[in-house]
Amino acid sequence: MKAIVQTGPEEIEVQEREQPTPGENEVLVEVHTAGLCGSDAHAYKYDGGYEWIPLPRVMGHEYSGRVVAVGDGVDQYAVGQKVVEEPIHHCGECFQCNNGQENVCQNFSITGMHTDGAYTDYTVVDQRHLHAVPEDVPLTDAAITEPTSIAARAVLDRSVTTPGDNVLVEGPGPIGVLTAVVADSLGANVVVSGLEKDTAYRLPLLEDQSIDTVNVQDRDLADVTDAVTDGVGFDVVFDATGHRSGVEEGIEHVRKGGQVVMVGIPNESSDLFMAPVVRGEIDVDSSYGSKWRNFEQALRLMERGAVDVGAIVDRSYDVDDPEDAFRAFLASETCKPVFTFADE
Ligand SMILES: [Zn+2]
Ligand SMILES: [Zn+2]
Repeated sequence: MKAIVQTGPEEIEVQEREQPTPGENEVLVEVHTAGLCGSDAHAYKYDGGYEWIPLPRVMGHEYSGRVVAVGDGVDQYAVGQKVVEEPIHHCGECFQCNNGQENVCQNFSITGMHTDGAYTDYTVVDQRHLHAVPEDVPLTDAAITEPTSIAARAVLDRSVTTPGDNVLVEGPGPIGVLTAVVADSLGANVVVSGLEKDTAYRLPLLEDQSIDTVNVQDRDLADVTDAVTDGVGFDVVFDATGHRSGVEEGIEHVRKGGQVVMVGIPNESSDLFMAPVVRGEIDVDSSYGSKWRNFEQALRLMERGAVDVGAIVDRSYDVDDPEDAFRAFLASETCKPVFTFADE
């Protein structure tokens, strides 16, 4: 079987691998579609925080597929079923796991990083890491359940967003875009801010979903805040930029008594300006990963048509030329490229 394997920093190869067999409690999944996300791009570049990943490694952690064989003891899934994997495997034993905070487990392992991933034709996974995909959700859409679940957690569990709220999402990467569409599905008034480079693909993608956008290199964000919120400030700001400046801008444009939720992980040392946070009584919250419930929320949002992730999935990249997808992603020429391994 074919696999996209990282062999070095910014080096990936398509290799031939042996098809795995499912062990006890494991399911053999025929991969249908696998997405590329920010963390895959960091891993590809072998950025700080990712250089521990042992190479060679089959990449990929967000994917959909069909069960094609089951090992002994598998009682939850049957051959033919459509599934997605929850790729961050928590240990089930540490303080956080026992405390109902498994998304911040101390000993988690991530498919495609700690173990070989899903940029391949077949993968095996323990049945406890799977979710069934509703019949009405196409596998192409279901491939991005994991990033959608992260957006669902940020908006539905970690933010106080309600219908009618003015919401700013900073950073139109995959997580920012999905956060915007989930907030929009609640009936919030969502604005997404990006940079000049985002006007090529990512901001228009949101405009197509009737979500307002602003290129902050072209228009002052303060003017937009004034116009949208009557000078009050945004009720909720999601920072999905992954930069300290995103958090600072969020604090600047949120209203007093409002909320800033950091979804992106700032990549620089972050000594926040805390004075305006205290004076404004701003809740600065964070959101990391997602839980079982968030996967279910994501799948139901798709099933009901409340979010149209099909419009976000970009199938224009080829499994046989994976570097093209990474190059385009890093150049912001696409938002959620996926590799298609099988047809329905
Ligand atoms: Zn991801
Ligand atoms: Zn744990």
